[in-house]
Amino acid sequence: MTSPFRNLPSVSRLLAHKRIRPLVSRMASDTVAELIRQQLQETRQAIAAGHECPPTETLVESVLARAELLLQSTLRPVINATGVIIHTNLGRVPLSREAIAAMEAVSHGYSNLEFDLTQGERGDRLVHLEPILCQITGAQAAVAVNNNAGAVLLALTVLTKEREVIISRGQAVEIGGGFRIPEVMQQSGARLVEVGTTNRTYLSDYQQAITDDTAALMRVHASNFRVIGFVESPPLEDLVRLAREHDLLLLDDLGSGCLVDTGQFGLAAEPTVQDSVAAGADLTLFSGDKLLGGPQAGIIVGREELVARLRRHPLTRALRLDKATVAALAATAIHYVRGEALEKIPVWRMIAMPLTTIQRRARRWARAIGAPARILHGRSMIGGGSLPEEGLPTRVVAISAHAGRSVTELAQRLRLSQPPVIGRIEHDQLLLDPRTVAPEDDSTLMEAIAAALKR
Ligand SMILES: *Cc1c(COP(=O)(O)O)cnc(C)c1O
Repeated sequence: MTSPFRNLPSVSRLLAHKRIRPLVSRMASDTVAELIRQQLQETRQAIAAGHECPPTETLVESVLARAELLLQSTLRPVINATGVIIHTNLGRVPLSREAIAAMEAVSHGYSNLEFDLTQGERGDRLVHLEPILCQITGAQAAVAVNNNAGAVLLALTVLTKEREVIISRGQAVEIGGGFRIPEVMQQSGARLVEVGTTNRTYLSDYQQAITDDTAALMRVHASNFRVIGFVESPPLEDLVRLAREHDLLLLDDLGSGCLVDTGQFGLAAEPTVQDSVAAGADLTLFSGDKLLGGPQAGIIVGREELVARLRRHPLTRALRLDKATVAALAATAIHYVRGEALEKIPVWRMIAMPLTTIQRRARRWARAIGAPARILHGRSMIGGGSLPEEGLPTRVVAISAHAGRSVTELAQRLRLSQPPVIGRIEHDQLLLDPRTVAPEDDSTLMEAIAAALKR
């Protein structure tokens, strides 16, 4: 009996194949050989499992496909037409032009990241952020790390390890992406003491839970959900007073890091960092890439001696920001200093976008798309765990099944177009919201839709 593996070509034969040979000019020859070996290994296993030996051309195709996957990054820009402004799965938020320019400027060559130009000595990367962050939040001191999950872990580890932290049961939440307050607390070595009930927690609940082992009271902003109806939680000022009376810390995890009054856009009031600081929180923690509108970061602002303790801890070194992030975060914060956040920061530009502008773009889109498109009233969402249930009135272009092509099929074709376009399916229609699409992407979007609708 002849071996079923007999017809498998050798590595060297495939390397010499006329369609594989040109690969060597595009990737390291060792890598090409390795890809061939991987393919042959997989094929051998398939044959052992009873499959037939594929023809050489099929093997060549598979090797070329493997090579293409490696030659281009799978991470690529997409057009977000979902109307969800802070979209964690789509990279959270676009950065301002100035923030991008700042990242580019420090990435080209060297920078004074940790170099004091006046003294000619070693410096600290946080000097580029602290004064601006203090200025815009009203805090005494600031430190920034990789993300807010890291910031919470850092603060709890350094300040509350092996001691108790009291938190309302309704705030011992999961934020998403595996960030659960009880688990982070456990990781930090602090002991979680939950008080109250899911919907109602009174100041007296906190009071009664205080023991000699208590280190802090913690408030966590219930970012991504809302309990409505019969609910109660003490105002931050009361928690601050209670903490002071008992010589405890008050830690305030705001999540979003909003610096702007959201009421002016008809949204519910998202708690601001300035209010948290002014109310007397010892430390206020928030993300760089939610409503702040900057790069991924976790920012901690508050009392100087606490921030100094955080800075000395090795975890701060492990969670430190890279230079491009420092540059982008500083540039984003400067927009607030200049009073131009609403015009320059994409998140705020999208939130502040007038309905008439959206309506005009939706009409243009609908005209370009033609028959299967209609304009509907809809809601854009803030997303990213900010202002759940809140929405901004918008106009969406709704595309229904067309020419035998279902809405799911259409959505898939758009996702696979170049660049991918992501919409939202509701009531068997594909909805596209101009609010989250950069105006300069309008024509690309129209081409993608035309191609997706074509037979
Ligand atoms: C989003 C959020 C976090 C996590 O922040 P990341 O920057 O995503 O790590 C923590 N706490 C709250 C309340 C949040 O909303």
